[in-house]
Amino acid sequence: MAYHKLLNRQIKKYADEELITDERFIRFIESVSDSYNAFDRDKELSDYAFLVSQLEFDEINKKLKEEVELRKFSIEKLKKTLSSIRTDNNMPFSGNDDDLLEIVDLLNVEINKRKEAEKQLIIAKEEAEEASHAKSEFLSVISHEIRTPLNAVIGMGHLLLKNTPRADQLNNLKILKTSADNLLVLINDILDFNKIEAGKLDLEETSFNIKNLITDIVNANTNAAHERENEIIISIDENLPDYFMSDSLRIGQVLNNLVSNAVKFTHRGLIKVSIDLKEMKSNSAVMDISIQDTGVGIKKEKHSNIFLPFTQASSSITRQYGGTGLGLAITKRILGALNSDIQVESEPDKGSKFYFTLELKTIEPNDHGQYEPDIVDFDLKNKTLLLVEDTLFNVLYATQLLEGWNAKVEVAENGAIAVEMLKAGNYDLVLMDLQMPVMDGYTATAKIREFNTSTPVIALTASATSNVRQKVIEVGMQDYVTKPFNPDDFFAKLKKYLG
Ligand code: ADP
Repeated sequence: MAYHKLLNRQIKKYADEELITDERFIRFIESVSDSYNAFDRDKELSDYAFLVSQLEFDEINKKLKEEVELRKFSIEKLKKTLSSIRTDNNMPFSGNDDDLLEIVDLLNVEINKRKEAEKQLIIAKEEAEEASHAKSEFLSVISHEIRTPLNAVIGMGHLLLKNTPRADQLNNLKILKTSADNLLVLINDILDFNKIEAGKLDLEETSFNIKNLITDIVNANTNAAHERENEIIISIDENLPDYFMSDSLRIGQVLNNLVSNAVKFTHRGLIKVSIDLKEMKSNSAVMDISIQDTGVGIKKEKHSNIFLPFTQASSSITRQYGGTGLGLAITKRILGALNSDIQVESEPDKGSKFYFTLELKTIEPNDHGQYEPDIVDFDLKNKTLLLVEDTLFNVLYATQLLEGWNAKVEVAENGAIAVEMLKAGNYDLVLMDLQMPVMDGYTATAKIREFNTSTPVIALTASATSNVRQKVIEVGMQDYVTKPFNPDDFFAKLKKYLG
């Protein structure tokens, strides 16, 4: 048997031959050798165990160090961030590197401050909204108040111009009329923009003939175009359907803004209004509409500015052409409400092109009830009209207009008198002012409708908000005319109900 190395050496050194062969000695030596070997194994094991725990300890230690570093770094970062957001830097950190509690306290202070600031902001926002609302109200009321006397100025100017004035008067009257017309456009634009900004752009759906709409708008701008020696041409895709359902008033306003700008900013040039059919769908048509001119053009850097309210491409524009810089802002908002957007291409001295794409609902030609009547060959002979109006100037203006078309006119100063007059006599049509002393136009119409449902009643109103439109229809009126009324539109409305 092979004994443990150490034991072997000692046996060789101390034991003689006799002892080595003795049975009892051999058994003893064997068990000693076993003990030696067991000891070796245990030592090996314990060495190994020690080595392992040392490695583990190093590993844990390293991790701990890393964590401490990370924590320090995080706290530093937290402090830096906190310093940058602190509203009050009078309270510095204690310098204690890892005082998380201090950080938490400071955070709390900051959060509370922010909450308070937020509260103040909300209050300020509400106050600003109230102020803005008050401003809008004020603007509406003032504009409305200005429109009423302006109605008389425009009306009287119109009548004086018709009464064959002397040559020296004619020029003055023309200036009077142009200035009053410009003032009206300005007031209407301010009112309209105000209304749109207040989110009150309600679109109405009526059937209309788009070709007639374009032609009407171009015709309305022809005089101004000729004065500036411009030519206007219309190009309409022959495949474009005639009738659509949408807000023709607002679409007309957009087209009119663009066409009148083109005329205004062009001299001895060409203005082209085009509609191209892009796509026909089952219930709608998509079309590209453009208004192009060969006028003064706009510098590239101004292309986006001109759509902002009260902004013009250059300050000399106001001096030369007037205007408020509201037209394109209104146009952009109306087109937005119609899911479209206005684009511009323009170069100074070459001209401008404003264009947009519209998708409009189509209707069958025989569904259109609202085709505007043609006003030739018609007058109001043998028609008796009741004019309900309290403002003397307006009475004078409307009476002279109506009598000029050969109508017989009777006047009621307020709603209460009108009700009595309708009970007593026969009228072909009633023209009803809305705001009057004693009894307003709405109440009067409601009372009239209790005993007379057949005579058409047309409201005369200075404000054409959709609210008013809806209210006049609700109380039983057929239609409305906005003051100051354009004689042609007024006549067209009368023909619609009397023709
Ligand atoms: P306004 O015509 O009342 O000034 P707009 O909002 O309609 O206001 O137009 C803003 C500005 O855009 C104009 O003042 C003008 O500088 C520029 N602009 C608009 N249309 C044209 C055009 N067709 N040609 C040249 N400039 C134009």
